[in-house]
Amino acid sequence: MMTPVFVSCGFSQIIYNDTSNMTAIDTFKSDESFARRLDSNDPLASLRERFDMIPGKIYMLGNSLGLMPKTAAQAVGGVIKEWRNLGIGGWLDGDPPWFYLAERTGEVAAALVGASPDEVICTGTTTFNIHSLVSTFYRPALGRKKIIASTMDFPTDIYALKSQISLHGLDWREHLILVEPDESGIVSEDNIIDAMANDVSIVHLPSVFYRSGQLLDIERLTTAAHERDIMIGFDCSHSVGVIPHRFDDWCIDFAMWCSYKYLCGGPGAPAFIFLGRKHFDCDPGLAGWFGYVKERQFDMNLDFEHAKSAGGWQVSSPGILGAAAVAGSLEVINEAGIEQIREKSLRMTSYLIYLTDELLSQAPYDFRVVTPREPRRRGGHVALTRHDGALGIKEALDLRGVVADFRPPNVIRFAPSPLYSTYHDVWSVVRHLREIIDTGEHDRLSSSRRKPIS
Ligand SMILES: *Cc1c(COP(=O)(O)O)cnc(C)c1O
Repeated sequence: MMTPVFVSCGFSQIIYNDTSNMTAIDTFKSDESFARRLDSNDPLASLRERFDMIPGKIYMLGNSLGLMPKTAAQAVGGVIKEWRNLGIGGWLDGDPPWFYLAERTGEVAAALVGASPDEVICTGTTTFNIHSLVSTFYRPALGRKKIIASTMDFPTDIYALKSQISLHGLDWREHLILVEPDESGIVSEDNIIDAMANDVSIVHLPSVFYRSGQLLDIERLTTAAHERDIMIGFDCSHSVGVIPHRFDDWCIDFAMWCSYKYLCGGPGAPAFIFLGRKHFDCDPGLAGWFGYVKERQFDMNLDFEHAKSAGGWQVSSPGILGAAAVAGSLEVINEAGIEQIREKSLRMTSYLIYLTDELLSQAPYDFRVVTPREPRRRGGHVALTRHDGALGIKEALDLRGVVADFRPPNVIRFAPSPLYSTYHDVWSVVRHLREIIDTGEHDRLSSSRRKPIS
């Protein structure tokens, strides 16, 4: 391998970490020993031992599928043992009883998002939960018929919204308003608020855009929506577990998020619903027996009486094996503390942005950071673009053991996990990117492999 041309660029005077909980003004340097120093001063460094790291890989996809915490595997192992030893008895005699696992896990997650314990339930999947919540609140027959989302949304959210509109016999081309980003790919809160007309029923947006990593101002949008009598909900798949939330203080109506990204709950793990207390009396749009008032669920009454909590929005028997993994993973996250997790995440992404500016922004590297630089507008990952060759670069990273991803047309995403990534990992990613451009590896790969995908 080449020797990386890593010039030490001295101190940076740029303040990358200017959030209130990060008083230290970091002055990053670009040499390897500085990365080591950041690691040795990292209060969360020991958490890495709680994970089974993949040997030989630099894992930068905590925003896509979080690695496995050992406690998650132990919790799944525990349920398997209970299933073997107790059979159906596990529903009441498991530890904790399977019958209450979704509620218990919801209570634990509620602390992460600033909600009351009964406002959060571990259930369903993200897309399913969008259907469940939107079908509860979207009542076009009563008047307001429009839903606001954005062209930068994760596609499944848009598919769900379109089908919810179509289920009412309406045309989504007319009733789904998609707010567009500016030329830099940023969706401005002003534009979203401007779209909140008096025929809008619901605003449904992500907390963090999956491609750019932009974090929306949830509180501001919620206040604006409520001033106009519009309901507002957020898909927080890209923020829960890496950013603190204050759902109750912000007064949002509903939210949903997946468990397998920053929450490290495992592939396809059961997701979460947040439902603001003021909506507990609404009838769930999609009813099912696990949403029944728990004490009377086994009366087997044909008239549905839903639990007056987020639990009322459950539909089916919970997947206990999957929920156990989520519960096991939450132990590690709570131990770390969400404020500390956010602080480290911001420092890592700031460091990556700094290194990109210093070492990758000039020709021939030409990488550009498309994620907002202000910490309060940034989620947990950094998106880089390059005028061409992004797919080939991503594939060259693969061959070098760097796990990142490509999102068409030209974005490569990196999510250093505050739970198990090191600052040295971040530094190494930048070194690999330089080497790939220096050697032209990406050109050879992109020309041979790009076609099937584009
Ligand atoms: C990851 C993600 C999803 C995933 O949906 P599933 O139903 O869990 O497959 C949906 N929406 C957003 C915004 C996501 O980030």
